[in-house]
Amino acid sequence: MNLILLGAPGSGKGTQALRLSKEFNIPHISTGDIFREAVLTGTDLGKKAKVFMDKGKLVPDEIVVGIVKERLEKLDAKDGFLLDGFPRTILQAFALKDELAKLDKKLKAVIDIEVGEQELIGRMTGRRVCVDCKKVYHLIFEPPENQDYCDACSGRLIQREDDKIDTVRNRLVIYTEQTKPLIDYYKKEGVLHSINGEQDVENVFKDIITAIKGEYE
Ligand code: ADP
Ligand code: AMP
Repeated sequence: MNLILLGAPGSGKGTQALRLSKEFNIPHISTGDIFREAVLTGTDLGKKAKVFMDKGKLVPDEIVVGIVKERLEKLDAKDGFLLDGFPRTILQAFALKDELAKLDKKLKAVIDIEVGEQELIGRMTGRRVCVDCKKVYHLIFEPPENQDYCDACSGRLIQREDDKIDTVRNRLVIYTEQTKPLIDYYKKEGVLHSINGEQDVENVFKDIITAIKGEYE
């Protein structure tokens, strides 16, 4: 099963992707995670990506597309994948379409998680991430026992540089200009499901499952 999670930054894509990838036993492919890992390990890719990420800008299409193509051709994506944070531009969506045709794969569903702007700002600015195991918390909605340390591994919790308020605003403008048009694109392709993302995590998950199962019937 091949799925895409669409939605603004902070809408809950990563949170739902963890659950969906377990539920359907498919790899969770997050371009944001791939770039953050590259930044951390100091690779050439990381150095290039960091310049854009720190400003809340999109990494150029030619870089992102190459990485995703390579990732989709790995063995573990043979029977399905869950894309989180890709595509983010029309050009990326076209490139994905070509790649899927080449691999003889079809998209099952594109899930758009809908969340209003004020809520998105609150979710991003309150997000905290473990530096070691990368577990994601929210200071209000999913608080750790101790706000500085991870419940799971005792690693230090940090705020992502791009979750600071000024960068958050840039990311939302870029989302509206460059990524939102994909909703119409996938609607026309007949694969889009819009989900109310302003519910608790469990109910968002249930709605996504219902939408995907509907696809099967
Ligand atoms: P994205 O991957 O789309 O950027 P995340 O999954 O990281 O978003 O979620 C952003 C923040 O909002 C995180 O701190 C997460 O714990 C929190 N969050 C995710 N889903 C919900 C929800 N349904 N209700 C409240 N908070 C949520
Ligand atoms: P995310 O974790 O999905 O919010 O992504 C964090 C940052 O990584 C984004 O703000 C971009 O700078 C970069 N990024 C992630 N995915 C993409 C993509 N598909 N296209 C361009 N840039 C991306």
